[in-house]
Amino acid sequence: MNPATVARISGLRKSYGGREVVAGVDLELRAGECFGLLGPNGAGKTTTLKLCLGLAEADAGSIDLFGFDLPRQAREARQRVGVVPQIDSLDPDFTVSENLLVFGRYFGLSDAQVKARIPDLLEFANLTGRGDAKIQALSGGMKRRLTVARALVNDPDLVILDEPTTGLDPQARHVIWDRLKQLTAQGKTLLLTTHFMEEAERLCTRLSVLDQGRVIATGEPRMLIAEHIEPQVVEVYGDGVDAWASTHARPNSERCERSGETVFCYAHDAGPLVASLAGWPGLRHLHRPANLEDLFLKLTGREMRD
Ligand code: ADP
Repeated sequence: MNPATVARISGLRKSYGGREVVAGVDLELRAGECFGLLGPNGAGKTTTLKLCLGLAEADAGSIDLFGFDLPRQAREARQRVGVVPQIDSLDPDFTVSENLLVFGRYFGLSDAQVKARIPDLLEFANLTGRGDAKIQALSGGMKRRLTVARALVNDPDLVILDEPTTGLDPQARHVIWDRLKQLTAQGKTLLLTTHFMEEAERLCTRLSVLDQGRVIATGEPRMLIAEHIEPQVVEVYGDGVDAWASTHARPNSERCERSGETVFCYAHDAGPLVASLAGWPGLRHLHRPANLEDLFLKLTGREMRD
């Protein structure tokens, strides 16, 4: 494996109850990148992460992490990996520091070794001075930051994060983003799943979109957007939107989609579209550049997935 390649996943397959939920996934993670796995609910993201950690066994395919073959060498590979699970698994009976100590023991670290790291981990989590606090006394944002810090207890080279900011308010989410950027600045590799397109666009150097267990696109966010989506978007809603769409939207845009009450128009030049709205006082609009959400919706469709 190329030294710049941290993980190589080839032809990964996994079925549950006769249904293939991971259906031939190929991924390559490069050292120091933040790689995103995006996809609607049920796309197979969490199962892919579990397979990569040796927590479930694949039906077919190969996983190489740092030159270790999984699941055969999962124990060795996991020494170099930190995990932030989707649901916080901090022990509520222990304090902040005790949670770090207990977690360190899973990696064979002595309490003295973990204690030496605790000040740095608390600082990273913005919890300096809170080592003796009980977990129940922490806010959701603090718990998430502690869970990320806990994943660093063994000083991993790769950190795998399953929806690291789900359930957080915008302020707390920005703090997590800042911390994750610190990690890549230190040279760590991140693999994360997220439903927040802004998060993926800001953090991820590359990403794959998964749907029904298959990778349907891989690349740098900006490149993928440029490749698949017209550069300008006008979102229009309000009284008369249907009449406006049939007379003005279609002739002036390359592509038009209705979602709920909003018509999304995609164009290389949105000037004529925006100008056409002048005679429609009941309509409101937003003119913006194309983003990752546009790409995601184009590739995976606008229907709800449960
Ligand atoms: P995602 O993380 O993209 O939402 P998951 O990997 O969690 O998707 O799940 C993919 C599909 O596999 C879902 O339909 C889910 O219900 C199913 N699934 C996941 N784990 C199991 C399991 N242990 N047993 C049965 N079905 C499972």
